[in-house]
Amino acid sequence: MNIKQTDSRYVAHTYKRFDVAIVKGDGCLCYDDNGKEYIDMTSGIGVNAFGYADPVWAQAVADQAKTLQHTSNLYYTAPCAELAEILCTRTGMSRVFFSNSGAEANECAVKVARKYAAEHKGAEYYNIITLNKSFHGRTLTTLAATGQDSFHHTFLPLTDGFLYAEPNDIDGLKKLVNENKIAGILIETVQGEGGVNALDADFVKAVDMICKENDIVFMVDEVQTGNGRTGKLYSYMHFGVQPDVVSTAKGLAAGLPMGATLMSEKVADVLSYGDHGSTFGGNPVCAAAAVSVMNRMDEAFLAEVTEKGKYIKERIEAACYPVSGLGLMIGIKTKKPVSEVLAACIEKGVLCLSAKEKLRLLPPLNIPMDLLEEAVDKIIEALG
Ligand SMILES: *Cc1c(COP(=O)(O)O)cnc(C)c1O
Repeated sequence: MNIKQTDSRYVAHTYKRFDVAIVKGDGCLCYDDNGKEYIDMTSGIGVNAFGYADPVWAQAVADQAKTLQHTSNLYYTAPCAELAEILCTRTGMSRVFFSNSGAEANECAVKVARKYAAEHKGAEYYNIITLNKSFHGRTLTTLAATGQDSFHHTFLPLTDGFLYAEPNDIDGLKKLVNENKIAGILIETVQGEGGVNALDADFVKAVDMICKENDIVFMVDEVQTGNGRTGKLYSYMHFGVQPDVVSTAKGLAAGLPMGATLMSEKVADVLSYGDHGSTFGGNPVCAAAAVSVMNRMDEAFLAEVTEKGKYIKERIEAACYPVSGLGLMIGIKTKKPVSEVLAACIEKGVLCLSAKEKLRLLPPLNIPMDLLEEAVDKIIEALG
């Protein structure tokens, strides 16, 4: 079979794929159908936290697949319970709802905020504030939450009740809050798809304060920033704030579909029987993978993520390209068009991403230093 031809003929044309068919992976390396080797600086867009076919991860998945792969949420299962306990213990949150993707994790967050506001302030308090340049998913509600018009126009009408504030504009945010009836505010601490833009610490703290003063549900979308990516287990932990809701997905199960919406004490019992559900949510195989991921993300591991992030930043800045981001979530301002840089990287055997006009790097969190050095050497060549 010709992979590329067959795919192009039969798969919906929603992805502009690179001209590469990946057939296998091993750690931070992967191989195309011609046997060409690539260093992976994408992690499948922030998913494969431990690279490809990691043996510990694969064992956890295989063991669970051979024991119990699915039961429906009508029954209790150990991996789901264990994962929820780990997530709550490590974040101070109270309860978790499991789903299968980032969009679904955010969808749940919005439902929590709306129901909380309806019960505590009145049904007219349904508005959710998000930020310009944000990205929250592809369902009609999470598209509405996404503060980028270019995603909206062909799918109108979207879910009503979303307002957009400018990132880092505290006065603008206060004005929106004062002039509208607000249920919740949803932010990414580092806007991933929007161009790897880290919010100012003062702004993140101000969002937290404004939410507390106005009994607004403070939600952080940690779909991309979560699960160790920024050098903390969740990125809000850099800012000394405590959100009411944290949504996450991508790296959580390191290569299997899993979303989670973490709820603080304040909103822990907002959703009750029948309010929400997901057939696959909390699936035992995905949950077992995530338990294994969480058990490996200790403080020493997270410190290494920070160190590797610093290494990349220093090398790239020394080559005179501005760097944005946090930990191993990195944006690089290129001089050439980013599409040319991406093509040059592929040519040199490195897979990278873009975010808006920037080159974006999301390497596996456990990438060994020698491979990282080699990848950065090649990226610097490709940038020039
Ligand atoms: C990727 C992403 C999403 C959407 O996740 P899906 O799993 O594709 O639904 C939502 N929010 C952020 C911040 C993301 O990076």
